[in-house]
Amino acid sequence: MQTDREARQQIVQIVNELFQTGHLTATGGNVSALSGDGETLWITPTGLYKGTLSEEALVHIQPDGSVIQGSNAPSIEYPMHVRSYRSREGIHGAVHTHSPIATAFGICNQSFQPINTDAILLADTQIVPWLMPGSQELAEAMGLALEKSRGAIMQNHGLMAVGEDLRGAATRAMMIEETAKLSLYVRQFGGEVSLIPDPWVEEIAGYASFM
Ligand SMILES: [Zn+2]
Repeated sequence: MQTDREARQQIVQIVNELFQTGHLTATGGNVSALSGDGETLWITPTGLYKGTLSEEALVHIQPDGSVIQGSNAPSIEYPMHVRSYRSREGIHGAVHTHSPIATAFGICNQSFQPINTDAILLADTQIVPWLMPGSQELAEAMGLALEKSRGAIMQNHGLMAVGEDLRGAATRAMMIEETAKLSLYVRQFGGEVSLIPDPWVEEIAGYASFM
């Protein structure tokens, strides 16, 4: 179990990485980590520019959104974060990004074909139809989706990934975006598509539960 200080440090580190690589927009997307008590959350604040986030700007909240510590209001998407920790055992970090290519991939109802090993590992990525950001309906739909996969794309919005730690959640979000990008390139070339043969797909898929 990570300490609160580690949780805060890791959130700032991951937000910086996700911002610099285009997964978070100036105010879009949010990151949270489970607190050392295993019940409350540290989360990014609402509306604040993500490019210069400090540990002091983060908000410590109860599962109902009430603020324990911090002078900012928590992300309006906190219900989705709270629900995501209940989607499966051992989740300690959650990222919600506005990754553009993965979002477009979801809007166009695409699924990952076995074009590379990551695509096989991500084949269970869920697509969730549009629901209002910040709503309980979206939180519940995402919670159910994350019970089936550690990553889910929200149509017309972005994606969410969870992990045993925040690094794992961020890695999955980045993998989904990179694989959506490769899928886009494959379609743009437009020639005959060579997929990984089935026996290899089955073997590689066996590793999906470890990540
Ligand atoms: Zn969002």
